[in-house]
Amino acid sequence: MNISIIGAGPAGCITALNSKGHDVILYEEHRKQPVQCAGLISISGLKRLGIRPEFLNKVRGARIYSPSKRLIEIDARKDKAYVVDRQEFDEELLNSAIDSGIEFVNEGVKDINKLKADRIVLATGTNYQLHRKLGLETPGEFLLGAQYELKADCDPDFVELHFNVPQFFSWIIPTGDYCRVGLCTRENPTPWLEEFVKELRRDGRIKNSRILKRNYGIIPLYDPNIRTDYGRIITVGDSAGHVKATTGGGVVMGGLASRHACKKDYEKLWRAEIGRELWLHLILRRFLDNLSNKNIERLFSLVNEYKESLEKKGDMDIASRSLSSLLMNPSFTFRLLLNSPRFLMDLL
Ligand SMILES: Cc1cc2nc3c(=O)[nH]c(=O)nc-3n(C[C@H](O)[C@H](O)[C@H](O)COP(=O)(O)OP(=O)(O)OC[C@H]3O[C@@H](n4cnc5c(N)ncnc54)[C@H](O)[C@@H]3O)c2cc1C
Repeated sequence: MNISIIGAGPAGCITALNSKGHDVILYEEHRKQPVQCAGLISISGLKRLGIRPEFLNKVRGARIYSPSKRLIEIDARKDKAYVVDRQEFDEELLNSAIDSGIEFVNEGVKDINKLKADRIVLATGTNYQLHRKLGLETPGEFLLGAQYELKADCDPDFVELHFNVPQFFSWIIPTGDYCRVGLCTRENPTPWLEEFVKELRRDGRIKNSRILKRNYGIIPLYDPNIRTDYGRIITVGDSAGHVKATTGGGVVMGGLASRHACKKDYEKLWRAEIGRELWLHLILRRFLDNLSNKNIERLFSLVNEYKESLEKKGDMDIASRSLSSLLMNPSFTFRLLLNSPRFLMDLL
């Protein structure tokens, strides 16, 4: 088959890397792929994708702060995720794809009618211009992300998640030399991020550091009903909303879907592999979105008591594994059921 892939982000490059036996042209409109990313990628996810990237740092757990700043520390006691330089990560993937024998064209595609391909893979990230032109479905809901890179006092072995913004969280990710401090919201994220950075300065965690880099981007929320296969044209990665709604992470899920992009039953295959997990992440997001701060505190207390299960069996990508590690514990499930009328009141 002649395949044209549009977009050389992770989804486009992983599609190219899994296109053995086909004639492939990969198009990218930028000289260097533009990145908006915290660069946190699970080691287990990368293993599933068969990628061994260069990384800046490794983390083994998370310090999670409730709205009232109560702390849960999840310490897996082994490396769980890499912190990567996304620009380098994308470049490495592109170079491997080129080395595998595909043709690379450093040009944007504005009109797919000019492409003589049996299959066209739209891996255009959150640029939905071609989707609109062609009448293809796009994700319907988005988070708005903002992130600053600066020097701050943080433990290199742990990421921090602060539940201090409505319907999402802020993060601090240690790269080794500096930190990525960011967050997502449903409205303009910048005032929230400025406030968070001010708080970190007040707490003495950011001393004299200026902001080294500013990063802004949008994150699509997964839509279980989205159509991604139109016969000659298919969509993958952010372009198809292959993103975990709990964390906004899309590199692993988009990558897993992309491995099927050159196969006949693409939509059936990606849904079989990651559809249920993406749906579970979405259900968890909806649940957390609707919970009052009081009930988030209750949930924190409960999870804190049973965090050992998460430490042993939790997985950043596989929501069902993390959930079942908690629910397999009868006493956790009993306590959750006891609290469920309170949670239900928020959801109704
Ligand atoms: C603030 C923020 C933090 C994030 N943090 C994380 C994280 O820590 N971990 C994680 O896993 N995910 C994270 N994500 C999500 C992650 O960045 C995306 O899910 C991922 O980049 C999606 O990969 P992709 O290949 O689908 O799209 P992209 O990486 O966006 O790549 C799309 C490519 O297509 C090119 N392109 C677009 N249109 C055309 C065209 N017409 N012709 C040619 N080329 C075109 C673009 O130039 C681009 O290079 C974050 C996102 C944001 C906004």
